[in-house]
Amino acid sequence: MFGFLKKKLKNVIAGISNKIKKKPAEKPIEGTEKPEKPEKPERLPAEEKFEKEERKGIIQKLKELVMVKLSEEDFNKLFEDLELTLMENNVALQVIDVIKENLKKDIVDKPFKKKEIELKIKDALRNSIDKLLLEPFDLVEKVRSKKPFVVAFFGINGGGKTTSIAKVAYLLQQNKLSSVMAASDTFRAASIEQLEKHGAKLRVKVIRHRYGADPAAVAFDAIAYAKSRAIDAVLIDTAGRMHTQANLMREMEKICRVAKPDLRIFVGESIVGNDAVEQAKAFNDAIGIDAIILTKADVDEKGGAAMSVSHVTGKPILYLGIGQHYGDLEKFNKHKIIGSLGLE
Ligand code: GDP
Repeated sequence: MFGFLKKKLKNVIAGISNKIKKKPAEKPIEGTEKPEKPEKPERLPAEEKFEKEERKGIIQKLKELVMVKLSEEDFNKLFEDLELTLMENNVALQVIDVIKENLKKDIVDKPFKKKEIELKIKDALRNSIDKLLLEPFDLVEKVRSKKPFVVAFFGINGGGKTTSIAKVAYLLQQNKLSSVMAASDTFRAASIEQLEKHGAKLRVKVIRHRYGADPAAVAFDAIAYAKSRAIDAVLIDTAGRMHTQANLMREMEKICRVAKPDLRIFVGESIVGNDAVEQAKAFNDAIGIDAIILTKADVDEKGGAAMSVSHVTGKPILYLGIGQHYGDLEKFNKHKIIGSLGLE
């Protein structure tokens, strides 16, 4: 992830630094603005006065060569390139605003050495992104805390929901935890068979009803099944598209009312950028989500959704989907993200 953004960021930061390096200091640098004591020319020999002024001038010039201080106006002009780069890489506008404000606080009107500019911008950017990304909680530990632990997965069709459910079932197996899957997408043709295929490969039981059946009833049956067999987790698949958005959300609310999931996870594909962020926000506003799985990070060169979705929803990304195999589920690690942006 971030292949594209990393390269662009490096160039943009270097570009901004070069522009700043060439810029003469317009304001007196801190420490130099102290007015010299008023001299009394009538008592000073002309030669001595000339020497003093010349010395003062040289010191000021030297400081201007090594130090710089940016006004807000300079900053806004210089950082247009960075804003554009973030926008091109699918970073949400409200997140760009936060990054800009944080950078402004760190950089504007603060004198710093010209040779440290690049480092200063990188530091400010790293701090800002670090604040935007939330630390994930441990899903496996959560599952261990209650039996059966019920997880409902939400998201738009094609986003990788079914695959991610199978990956989570596999992850639980790796941690010696059993699960049952509920085929609560009774709307989309072939969705039940798709989940059953994963179930057969992973040897995980899938609870199904016929197409058109009440999705909440399927979830209810899966929970009853888990209770009767001491299964650790219930993983509920849900529909991703209905006739209208309102219908879909009403159906999701009913599943939540009946199944009372311990965790509601939004699954979205990272490659659609801002659309994934908007979808996560819509599900969060309608039913309230607890966490996010972002899929297809392996084919997303931009990475803006990963940088934006937590700030917009206030919920952490738990995992990134990084491929089509069951093991391709990577725990979200913000230090790794900052590293892949070249800001480590
Ligand atoms: P659903 O409609 O949301 O249930 O989506 P699916 O689970 O059926 O996934 C849609 C497609 O995306 C399938 O071809 C998956 O193999 C693929 N897919 C899911 N997750 C990932 C991922 O992390 N990386 C890649 N490259 N493909 C993925």
